[in-house]
Amino acid sequence: MLSTVIPPLVLTLFNFTVTFEWIDYINTTETNNTNIMKTAIVKAFGTEAPDADLKQMDITRREVLEKDVEIDILFCGVCHSDLHTARNEWHGTVYPNVPGHEIVGRISKVGDKVTQFKVGDLAAVGCMVDSCRECEQCRKGSEQYCEKGNIQTYNGHDRHLNKQTFGGYSERIVVDEDFVLRVPENLDLAATAPLLCAGVTTWSPLKHWNVGEGHKVGIVGIGGLGHMGVKLAKARGAHVVVITTSPSKVEDAKRLGADEVILSTDKEQMKAHTNTLNFILDCVSADHDLNAYMRLLKVDGTLALVGAPEHPLPVAAFSLIPGRKSLAGSTIGSIKETQEMLDFCGQHNIVSDIELIKIQDINQAYERLLKGDVKYRFVIDMKSLKG
Ligand code: NAP
Ligand code: ZN
Ligand code: ZN
Repeated sequence: MLSTVIPPLVLTLFNFTVTFEWIDYINTTETNNTNIMKTAIVKAFGTEAPDADLKQMDITRREVLEKDVEIDILFCGVCHSDLHTARNEWHGTVYPNVPGHEIVGRISKVGDKVTQFKVGDLAAVGCMVDSCRECEQCRKGSEQYCEKGNIQTYNGHDRHLNKQTFGGYSERIVVDEDFVLRVPENLDLAATAPLLCAGVTTWSPLKHWNVGEGHKVGIVGIGGLGHMGVKLAKARGAHVVVITTSPSKVEDAKRLGADEVILSTDKEQMKAHTNTLNFILDCVSADHDLNAYMRLLKVDGTLALVGAPEHPLPVAAFSLIPGRKSLAGSTIGSIKETQEMLDFCGQHNIVSDIELIKIQDINQAYERLLKGDVKYRFVIDMKSLKG
């Protein structure tokens, strides 16, 4: 093994000081093979600790392998999951952490065996960059449910470099072409970035539970995910009922496509909609009373959680039993579903409502996100990092 020949200090030194050089790297994948991997230093924005601000830093990315593409990142959306992870609210964050999984850019390099993309193409990356490709879920094209765990775009385990993956708050990213998406040419690029997480995370459950014409669907929490849920559910033909805690979003929700709006802090409004919804998509990022929302479902209705608050949400047995109701969950979407959703958005001219920011404003953006003060997704113009 190479590690017995070269002391770890030298490897570390090489890793961080030599750019665009061949670097000896110990790869401890399942086979424990020793690979030679060419890497590069890339500018990024990330955090060193749960309570630290995000700041500029250098990260190491592999140079393209034969099936990889390198994407020069133009825009990256700011998902609430970025904040949960940067601050270790879900536990298990490995530092330094570079968030960002709503990535749109242009291909700058391709490996020798890449067949789907060429240099200069627009391309996008969402929440996953790899999976085992062998388990039942991967084989049937549901790699987001990979039985060994999909490899997340950030804070995942990069099996090539044997360290954590780094996300899209960076100049560029290298990804296997199988996990890279095509971007419809007719859509605004910055406003397309949030489709890569907020779009597919709402599309996948709407599709799975067949939400469409003849369905009355409630969308709870009108942030990045929720506002995309409204647009996509409406475009699928459903009757859309927005359920928000924000009086300022009541009128705006109708502009997004809502047929009805419930201000959830108003008990009378909530009571008036008891037993009326077939399906609820819960996109809330913080603690909230699920029982109050379950009451809005009809018999046999389902509430699917996509929002992932830090703390457990208590559910009373009698919120489920009398109406044979289901409480479910859903994670992102498959690569196939993501492409399908992007193509659907291209055909229906659907993008996210965004506020474009510089990377240097990311810490203020996180504070505003916590207050629900964004309509409806921050997107980072990555020129601000490169400039
Ligand atoms: P976001 O933009 O911050 O939106 C969250 C919304 O939740 C807020 O705009 C607000 O909507 C509502 N809300 C906040 N606090 C609330 C409270 N105490 N009670 C009720 N409603 C409250 O966040 P996001 O980026 O859309 O993400 C939403 C959640 O989904 C996060 O937890 C994120 O990590 C998770 N997520 C999950 C997946 C997945 O695969 N399942 C993927 C991406 C993100 P109103 O103002 O309308 O009330
Ligand atoms: Zn996300
Ligand atoms: Zn798998």
